[in-house]
Amino acid sequence: MIKINLRKKISQRVVNGHPWIFNNEIENLDETIKGGEIVEVYTHDKKFVGKGYVNPKSQIVVRLLTRNKNEEINDQFFSKRILECWEYRKKLGYIENCRLVFGEADSMPQLIIDKFNDYFVIQTLALGIDVWKHAITDALKKIFDPKGIYERNDVPVRELEGLGQQKGFLSEPFDTKIIINENGLKFHVDLENGQKTGYFLDQQDNRRAIQQIVKGADVLGAFTYTGTFEIHAAHYGARSVLGLDISENAVTQANRNAELNGVQNACKFETANAFDVLKQWAKEGHQYDVVMLDPPAFTKSRETIQKAITGYKEINLRGMKLIRPGGFLVTSSCTNLVNAELFQEIIGMAAKDARRKIRQVVFQTQSADHPVIWGLENTQYLKFLVIQVM
Ligand code: SAH
Repeated sequence: MIKINLRKKISQRVVNGHPWIFNNEIENLDETIKGGEIVEVYTHDKKFVGKGYVNPKSQIVVRLLTRNKNEEINDQFFSKRILECWEYRKKLGYIENCRLVFGEADSMPQLIIDKFNDYFVIQTLALGIDVWKHAITDALKKIFDPKGIYERNDVPVRELEGLGQQKGFLSEPFDTKIIINENGLKFHVDLENGQKTGYFLDQQDNRRAIQQIVKGADVLGAFTYTGTFEIHAAHYGARSVLGLDISENAVTQANRNAELNGVQNACKFETANAFDVLKQWAKEGHQYDVVMLDPPAFTKSRETIQKAITGYKEINLRGMKLIRPGGFLVTSSCTNLVNAELFQEIIGMAAKDARRKIRQVVFQTQSADHPVIWGLENTQYLKFLVIQVM
């Protein structure tokens, strides 16, 4: 097996557990090495670190799969790991729907598998995991006997790995428009054309966190997508709910979901740019008891982090202005580079500019089927905050 030595001066990061090795951290990279191969990694003084997959074309040359020298990386390896992932989810009660595999946090870098009852959606975001796609699919078939498996590799990050974007069936073709249950409600999910893998499972616990504050409330939700938070609000007893999304498709899907749950009278959806409409409605004096914001990631790169900060401040400021004194702002951020502290700071700045006093009610992260590895910043990405706005 090909051996790679880490440079002497490299930080303790890799030795201490981080699975990524960057191209400036290794001593020798054999030019003939083929992307996707399994390599052994050693420290400069020849101590075994782990085994992982290599891609000389990527800035992250190696991603480690195991620290155990005796563990072979083969089809059984993936089958065993997936089974372990399933045991963990079952233990925590994520049985019908869950992120079954959350990449690095499950020691399978760049592999995402979402389970939607009997259906599975896979993303293989690096070359070294992409080559195992069929082994992974076979493992899913053996463990779950699924009704369908779909590949959603239509994501630009794959290009950093020299991979093309693609999507399609990894099982016999099936109807990719399915219905899932969550918190006692039902949602249409479009596995083929929905955003990301079709549905945002990471907010499934957070959607329950609004249960008490929306009772009898007038609720405005922006960035609604499939209408999940809004439909939860209606179900939990809100007096009125309005959800906004810039995408007409999202609004159509949200309306269908409201009907599916019989809340179409209390819960309406409209196509709108939240940035414009919230500003206008604040000027016109609209007031709500609860405003919910769940925007998409505003940036993926450090260079444009300021843009994300400005975006969050702006939308939250506008949201706060629409809240009756004593009402609540339910606000999320899934931008990786905006950490929890920074997000709180931004909300603090927005409150100051809106001249409103706030207090924190709930502050949490993504649901536990997306576990967090300390020191691996990308695994803790979601911030979910409920504040009371005085
Ligand atoms: N709340 C959803 C997820 C939202 S994803 C859930 O729980 O599943 C973010 C959504 O914001 C997308 O549907 C996208 O279409 C929408 N969006 C992006 N920019 C927007 C804007 N300026 N105004 C309104 N919606 C926007």
